[in-house]
Amino acid sequence: MKEQTKSGHGWSDRKRYQCLRCYHVKGEVRVGPRYRIMDHFLRQHRTLDQAPFHCKLCLFRCFQFEDFQRHVTNFPRHRMLLREKGVEDSESYLVRNPNQ
Ligand SMILES: [Zn+2]
Ligand SMILES: [Zn+2]
Repeated sequence: MKEQTKSGHGWSDRKRYQCLRCYHVKGEVRVGPRYRIMDHFLRQHRTLDQAPFHCKLCLFRCFQFEDFQRHVTNFPRHRMLLREKGVEDSESYLVRNPNQ
């Protein structure tokens, strides 16, 4: 998994990240800590299946594979849905976007 701070993802600056997509599209300056801008970017500018990883079960999505693996055991909603469906193995719900 490559570091996501490189160009092309809409943020620059190491301390305060700016959503360049908002800036270019709406002339809106949106700055904040990295995690917040990343979260905003994923929600606002990427559809679900464009995120590098997403879970079809609970719709969790993220950039980092480690976070993705961790959500299977740590994300309450995921565990709840597994229980509801009576499924033991999450594997078939975990999707890695091949374009990333
Ligand atoms: Zn934005
Ligand atoms: Zn999930």
